[in-house]
Amino acid sequence: MFDKIRNWRVRRTVARRPIAESLWQDALRRCAPARRLGASDQATLRVLVTLFLQRKSLEPTQGLELDGADRVLLATHACIPILKLGLDWYDGWHSVIVYPDAFIPRRTRTDAAGVVHQSRNVMAGEAWGRGPVILSWAEVLNAGQQPGHNVVVHEMAHKLDMLNGEANGFPPLHRGMDGRAWTQVLSSTWDRLRDDHRNGLPLPIDPYGLESPAEFFAVVSEQFFEEPAALRHHLPDVYRQLEQFYRQHPY
Ligand SMILES: [Zn+2]
Repeated sequence: MFDKIRNWRVRRTVARRPIAESLWQDALRRCAPARRLGASDQATLRVLVTLFLQRKSLEPTQGLELDGADRVLLATHACIPILKLGLDWYDGWHSVIVYPDAFIPRRTRTDAAGVVHQSRNVMAGEAWGRGPVILSWAEVLNAGQQPGHNVVVHEMAHKLDMLNGEANGFPPLHRGMDGRAWTQVLSSTWDRLRDDHRNGLPLPIDPYGLESPAEFFAVVSEQFFEEPAALRHHLPDVYRQLEQFYRQHPY
């Protein structure tokens, strides 16, 4: 019964405020992971993006203005990770605050309050446990420009990670997934890459992923969607775990 009501509400929402075709095509053109999806998955993604824009508040600050195309693009990036999980996985928070450019962090690293962030230059993004996602718009536009990078996917991965407590690289796994295998694969890979990095060897991922298990999960999630072939080639075990978690096969 409740599902019926909810489905009806969803249909009504999507029907009343569909994303204009031109904005949707523009988002597909600018978001490689969305562009690569099949027609059926793109249709599902379009519904999720519509609902995301209904339920979340995009809040540009410091003089930044986001037009309709910008908002659809941001929401498209944001909904890629939950394409097969559903928008419920983003419950419990409301705001996406967007700075024009890199911003000054209010906190550093991961703290007891469950705040995590990344700092590739100054600060590209930040995700609070039950609070907002904070993004640099310049970094959002940079998605895919540096191979494997997508700040929106990165921060959303932190949000998924924090659904079962602090960000630690262990999001809530699905029934049928093996938690020990997840931990073994991700932690042994992380250890090995840290050794490689210390020894001056080239890394197949952004070294920022070596900062902590939480950052590792977020960084490999970016690569999973942006550069799936490379991740599968270099870190096949990690790729397979992410396939099971995201329930997607981007390569
Ligand atoms: Zn991060």
